[in-house]
Amino acid sequence: VLELAYRCPDCEPLTKLALTPDRDLVKCRICSQERALRQDAWQDGGITHCVVCGTEDLYSQKDFPQGLGLAILVAGFGLSSLFWLWYMPIAAFGVLIASVIVDAILYALVPDVVICYRCLSQYRGNGSNPSGRYRNFDLAVGERYRQERMRVEELRRQRQSQDPCA
Ligand SMILES: [Zn+2]
Ligand SMILES: [Zn+2]
Repeated sequence: VLELAYRCPDCEPLTKLALTPDRDLVKCRICSQERALRQDAWQDGGITHCVVCGTEDLYSQKDFPQGLGLAILVAGFGLSSLFWLWYMPIAAFGVLIASVIVDAILYALVPDVVICYRCLSQYRGNGSNPSGRYRNFDLAVGERYRQERMRVEELRRQRQSQDPCA
């Protein structure tokens, strides 16, 4: 199953749904705004571009909260320092090594999530990254789309201030 987590331009929370080639609409669970989905993105059961905004720029990353891996290492290091202070060097090394191992295991077990640079839609599961075509986050590409999002946001603000009823 391929799952789409859709980020409505007006709402922060994600709307999650099972994505199939025949689905042509996504509806925000907060504001009920509907958006048409592209059905030309499918090829051999995978997606070749974002079904929401159509861009081919998507990136892949590990699907766990950002900073969790680092937090485990930092916690391990902190605990290890305590054992060191308590004159328990074996426990100190043990904790340090254990935290590195846990981190490595987590990294290996946790699946990937594919994210659209432009609209930040997320894709999980079968077909989200056919033949590994989507690579890790690229700073230059990410920056380009971040600036595009800021311009779009700016335009929307201008429109709203000109016409308060819009
Ligand atoms: Zn919404
Ligand atoms: Zn997109």
